[in-house]
Amino acid sequence: MNQEKIQELTAWMLKEGIDVAYITNPNSIAYFSGFQSDPHERVLALIFSTTRDPFLFTPALEADTAKQSSWTYDVKGYLDTEDPWKVLSDEILSRYGKPAVFAIEKAFFTLDRYERFAAYFPATDFSKDATPMIQQMQLRKTEQEIQTLIEAGNWADVAFETGFAAVKEGATEEEIVAEIEYQLKRKGVSHMSFDTTVLAGAHAASPHGAPDNTPVKSNELVLFDLGVVWKGYCSDATRTIAYQKPTKFQEEIYGIVLEAQLAAQQAVKPGITASELDTIAREVIESYGYGEAFNHRLGHGIGTSVHEFPSIVAGNDLVLEEGMCFSIEPGIYLPGKVGVRIEDCVYVTKEGCQSFTFTPKELLVIK
Ligand code: MN
Ligand code: MN
Repeated sequence: MNQEKIQELTAWMLKEGIDVAYITNPNSIAYFSGFQSDPHERVLALIFSTTRDPFLFTPALEADTAKQSSWTYDVKGYLDTEDPWKVLSDEILSRYGKPAVFAIEKAFFTLDRYERFAAYFPATDFSKDATPMIQQMQLRKTEQEIQTLIEAGNWADVAFETGFAAVKEGATEEEIVAEIEYQLKRKGVSHMSFDTTVLAGAHAASPHGAPDNTPVKSNELVLFDLGVVWKGYCSDATRTIAYQKPTKFQEEIYGIVLEAQLAAQQAVKPGITASELDTIAREVIESYGYGEAFNHRLGHGIGTSVHEFPSIVAGNDLVLEEGMCFSIEPGIYLPGKVGVRIEDCVYVTKEGCQSFTFTPKELLVIK
């Protein structure tokens, strides 16, 4: 449970004249309450009020786990045989009376859910959106959050080491993925932050390609993009390595991406904008004539979600501040030939930045 953040949200509600806030995104719920859950299609909610204590609303089968989490306020469970909207609205009315103004997370509350819920509050104003406020709160991480992100980053380094050790002639992308996830699960990491990506040779030329039974072959590059969820916080990092001696061309492309990645990482400091940072990396790649082959933004924020704010993208004039956490992940993708990406997530310090991952970035050649 993050009392500091709960107070920040409540202060915002008071300022905006909001009586009750309905938090629905499981990542936001974990951020405030410390209770992590994937409710699937069931209703999970965290309800804040400006007049009385908040409460967690969970499926009955999760209520005990919620009570055992760091959340110290009430937990209200409901049965599968009950109508969750009826139970939830009754609970809100009995605790807080009829709210005049509700805030919801518009980016996550589906229209279907909104209609079912709002039917119980015909006179309530639902126009307030909690999403931008929560995104704003999550921009700068606390020391405790950074510590957890460092731990999540350490696990990504363990995953790279495991994956590199599994690279051999004929091993398929999926086999290497399976080895990484199996070994991490054995070590107590129960979730990856996204599907582990291992792409061999030209297959890596698709920035969001999916691993399949493509085998690793000699004199090819292999791209690893991976991360874990650790105590509710994500890691995300990419390394591209060579299996057997790389060609001059592969080395050249790799060198350009590395130069771009390091240039951006070295340029991070409070005061620089997200857009400027993107430009620094992009100009390196453009100077070698591969600008069009770097077809995505430089990076994204990271925290309880693997993609959050700030977006490190051209046109985003957000000024970077101490405590912000984001990825720096330039790439060059040449269809049919080669794909190279190098990614570290970093946090902004007083003078520069620190990486969450430490796997070396010089081109690793596996013999
Ligand atoms: Mn990323
Ligand atoms: Mn990634």
